[in-house]
Amino acid sequence: HEAATATGLEALGIPGGGYVDGAWIVDELTLAVTDPEDGAVVAHVHVGDAATMDRAIAGVERSLRDEWELWERREVLERAAALVRAESGRLARIISAESSKTITEATREAARTAETIRLSAASAHLLEGETLALADTPRGRGRFGWNRRAPLGVVAAITPFNDPMNLVAHKVGPALIAGNAIVLKPALTTPLSALALLDILLRAGMPAGRMAVLVAEREAGTALVSDPRVAAVSFTGGPTAGDAIARAAGARKVMMELGGNNAVVVCEDGDVVTAAAGIVDGAFGVAGQNCLSVQRVYVHESRYDELVRRVVDGTARLVVGSKRDPATDVGPLIAEREAIRMGSWVSEAVEQGARVAIGGTRDGAYFAPTVLVDVPDDARVLREEVFGPVVSILPFRDLDDALDRVDDTEYGLQAGIFTGSMATAMEAVERLHVGSVLINETSDFRIDSMPFGGSKRSGVGREGVASAVLEYSEPKNVIVSVL
Ligand code: NAD
Repeated sequence: HEAATATGLEALGIPGGGYVDGAWIVDELTLAVTDPEDGAVVAHVHVGDAATMDRAIAGVERSLRDEWELWERREVLERAAALVRAESGRLARIISAESSKTITEATREAARTAETIRLSAASAHLLEGETLALADTPRGRGRFGWNRRAPLGVVAAITPFNDPMNLVAHKVGPALIAGNAIVLKPALTTPLSALALLDILLRAGMPAGRMAVLVAEREAGTALVSDPRVAAVSFTGGPTAGDAIARAAGARKVMMELGGNNAVVVCEDGDVVTAAAGIVDGAFGVAGQNCLSVQRVYVHESRYDELVRRVVDGTARLVVGSKRDPATDVGPLIAEREAIRMGSWVSEAVEQGARVAIGGTRDGAYFAPTVLVDVPDDARVLREEVFGPVVSILPFRDLDDALDRVDDTEYGLQAGIFTGSMATAMEAVERLHVGSVLINETSDFRIDSMPFGGSKRSGVGREGVASAVLEYSEPKNVIVSVL
C-alpha cells in the first residue's frame, strides 16, 4: 500500500505527503487524494493530528531565529517564480488531477501562481516604511524618526480547494517576503498543489523549516489557529468555517477572504452581446466553483428576451467533458455530493416557480451548466452562495430597484454593470457595497496585484499581493532625539 502511495507522489515529482520541522513526511500516508472526475487515487498524503501541528508550529517558529535577509527572500521568490514557469506543465497536471479544473484552467492557474510569486518578490520595497512627520507638532522638536515594516512572526494559513495553488501563493508569497514563517493547512481534497509549490520554494533556496504544510482535520486546524505562538491567521474559504476560525483565533490579527453571491446588471443601453458571452464564461468557468462566479443577472426588461436567448445559446455551445481534454470547457464539481446539492437547490427553485431554461441535469460529479429564469427573490439559488454551475436571470424595470436587489445579500465581493452611460456606471459604484465594481465586465475578473476582497460577509481585510504584504507586516518606529 505504501509503495503505491510513494509512487503516486513520485510520479508527480512531490517529495512527501507533508512537510514539518524541515523534513518531508514519507510514511503514514493515509489520506487518498482522488480525482473527482473518476474517483481514481492520485496520491496519498499524511493527515496531521494536534501533536504534529504542534511540531509544525514549533519548527517554523525556530526558523525565525536564523536571519534571512530581505534581498535573499526577494531572490528566492524570483527563482521560485521562474521554476513555477519552467515546470508549469507538471504543475498544471497536479492542479487538474486533484481539483475539478480542466487542464486548460489549471494551466492558467499555474501561470498566475508564477505571477503571484513574482509580484511578491517585487513588493520588497513596500517594507521600507516611512519617515515620521515629527516636525508637524511642537512636541516633535529636536527629534527625527522613521519606520521599517517588521514581520508579524508565525502566520497560520488555511486555504480552499478551488484555486489550490494560486490561493496558496497569495498567502505564502506575501508572508515570506515580509519576513514571516508560515504553517499552511491546505484543503483536504487538494493538498498536492500546495506540497508541489512548497517543494519549488525549497529548491529555490527557501531555508528548510521556514514553512510547514500539513493536511489536517478540523481539530488540528483549530489547534493551529488558536496556538499562542501564531501571530496572525489568514483564511480563504466559506463564511461558516470563517466564523469558527475567528472564534478559535480570538483577539489576534485575522484576515479572511470569504464567499460571494455576485451579480451582474445589464442596462437598457448595455452591450448585450458582450454581456452574454461574459456571463456564460463567468457563471460556468471552473463549473461555477469560483468566489467571483456570476450567480445573479439583473437585465432591463427591454433586453431580457435577447439576453436570455444569447446566454442559453452560449451555454448550449459549452463542451462538458473530461478535464484532461483541452477542448473541454466545463469539468466536474469537486465531489458528487456537490452535484447532488446543485440538483436539490435547482429542484427547490423549480418548486417555487422557477423555470430551467437549459441544464438542470446531473451525471455523477458533473452538473450541467444551468440557466434559471422566473426565480422568486427568496429562492435559495439567489440568497445563498451557489458555488456551482447555476445562474439566474431576472428582469428589472427600474435601475434603482435593480441596484437594491444586487445589494440585498449578506455578501459583497464584486459586481459588474453593462451600460453605455458613465453616469449610470458611477451610480452603481457609489451605491453597491462590494470590494470591486466592474464596468462593462462581469464580476469574474481579478488581477493578482490589486487589493482584493469583499464587504460584509465576503471578508475581513484585503488580499492581493501589495495589500497582503502590508497585512503581514507592521510598522516599527525609530525615534532619535538630537537634543
Ligand atoms: P471551506 O470553508 O469549506 O474550507 C476552506 C478551508 O478551511 C479548508 O482547508 C478546510 O479544511 C478548512 N476548515 C473548514 N472548517 C475549519 C475549521 N473549523 N477550522 C479550521 N479549518 C477549517 O471552503 P471550500 O469549500 O474549500 O471553498 C469554497 C469557499 O471558499 C466558497 O465559499 C468560496 O467563495 C470561498 N472562496 C473565497 C475566495 C476569496 O478570495 N474571497 C477565494 C476562493 C474561495
